[in-house]
Amino acid sequence: MQIRKTILLAFTAFIASFVFITGNAHADEGIVEGSSLNIRNGPGTEYESIGRADTGESFPVVQQVNDWVEIELQHGTGWVSAEFITINESAINDTTVLDEDPDISSITIKYQNTQLREGPSTEYDIVNFAEKGAVFDIISTTGEWYEVVNETQTGFVLKELVEKSDDKLRNKGFKNKTVVIDAGHGGRDVGAIGANGSFEKDIASLTAQELEQALKLLGANVLLTRQQDEFISLTSRVTYSNFVDTDAFISLHYNSVPELPNVSGIETFYYAKQNASMANYIHDGIIGATGGSDRGAHEGDLLVLRLNMKPSVLLELGFMSNPEKEALLHTNGYQKKLVSGIVDGLGKYFNSTN
Ligand SMILES: [Zn+2]
Repeated sequence: MQIRKTILLAFTAFIASFVFITGNAHADEGIVEGSSLNIRNGPGTEYESIGRADTGESFPVVQQVNDWVEIELQHGTGWVSAEFITINESAINDTTVLDEDPDISSITIKYQNTQLREGPSTEYDIVNFAEKGAVFDIISTTGEWYEVVNETQTGFVLKELVEKSDDKLRNKGFKNKTVVIDAGHGGRDVGAIGANGSFEKDIASLTAQELEQALKLLGANVLLTRQQDEFISLTSRVTYSNFVDTDAFISLHYNSVPELPNVSGIETFYYAKQNASMANYIHDGIIGATGGSDRGAHEGDLLVLRLNMKPSVLLELGFMSNPEKEALLHTNGYQKKLVSGIVDGLGKYFNSTN
């Protein structure tokens, strides 16, 4: 991909109209587009590889020499081929702002098959096409772009392609619904250990936080069985779910079979038959959003499900013993995909019960 910089026009006037501004660094940011991209100790393939970077990872850019970009690493710097990296000027990255005006919290798509992109410029890949009339919540605003989300899609859309709306009645499916998110393991119970040594409890937390944010945006009441890295017994988790007004209990886990590092896939469990439809909706949502291998939705005799008196599912969202998948699970891009799938399925389930 050709490297170009996007210049933000009317930047100052734009900033003045918002309250909340994040970011401060002046360095341009390079976002990796290739998977398992070689990081070298000089600007050419003849230089030694000193590490690898994966899709979606970002690094401060030091300089560019011809087709090679020097990036800042945790210790020192390295070089990557410019072909596999997109550079964003700092002015763009640092102006993500949250809309403070509740009246323009959602938008309606004006044209059929409107492009949703991975980032706030036409340099980014198209990740979705939105239908005419589709309604989205605004997550943030960057220049001429909105970052938007609804039950099935997420991405960045040009402001001129949408109409602002203040329809407070949408997302009825999630309004007044209580979702208990159960990030598996925690504290001294690290859960499975990945091929590169990461802990299941930590990746489950990443998913829990992302899911919490997405569901809150859609108007759900969201509760977590653990807020941080702490040990909570299985029975405490279930007792909590049974005690509060739970409409859906979602337990988040990751799998491991160290002796079979190539195994991958997503699997969903339920215990009571009446929870099969919720499990199927969510499972299909995740497979649809991630394209992950489908290990099915099954009955499973798991304590957090068996003792749960509320609608409950347990998701095994991928194999940490697969080194490639383990790296992918740490990326925010993939976590967002997983979560959009869960939200999509859960929304369909809630609509089916209304
Ligand atoms: Zn687990």
